[in-house]
Amino acid sequence: MCDFFQLNFVGPSYKVIKRTNKKGVQFLLGEHDVIFKCVVEIYNEVKQVHNIGGPIPVILVEDETKVKSRVSWDSKSDNLIGFCGAKENHCCVTNFSPIIGIREVEYNNVIEAFINNKIASFARVMIVNPLHEKLPRLVFIVCCTCNCFNANWVQQQWDVINVLWKLECQAIVGPIVGHASDGDSRRCQLMLANYTI
Ligand SMILES: [Zn+2]
Repeated sequence: MCDFFQLNFVGPSYKVIKRTNKKGVQFLLGEHDVIFKCVVEIYNEVKQVHNIGGPIPVILVEDETKVKSRVSWDSKSDNLIGFCGAKENHCCVTNFSPIIGIREVEYNNVIEAFINNKIASFARVMIVNPLHEKLPRLVFIVCCTCNCFNANWVQQQWDVINVLWKLECQAIVGPIVGHASDGDSRRCQLMLANYTI
């Protein structure tokens, strides 16, 4: 993603982002309740600042973008970031990040991770878009993918997100009223299915 912003929007380089973010927020790949808790905190604060009462409906926006296929080590979590799942019977896994582990086995774990797993070539991003001009849009889900997923895979991720959203965010932020994206056939299929329910 850093490469994408650097090339297209004159953003900072990957190295600069990595150095700056060393003591910053650790962004987890995939869906985690801690991310949803952060989303609630942010919107709760902004709503208080602007005196916005009651739940505000939100739309989730998503898309994938081509990124450099690269694996890096996240020192905070000791995970390898950049794979999207096991090579065998491959299916992208949204929070896939092999752990390096203790010193005695770390070398083998790194070698095995590269032998057994597929390196992602796309970043998939989901953004919360509240339907209120004073509330900011927030990137809340990022995951690595090789873009081989189908509509069922997307629906499964939506289902996980819906559960976590209802649990953590719905009462304070507001309900999810829809999904928006480009004209990707996998998502169009799901959107049309939802319209007919
Ligand atoms: Zn994949």
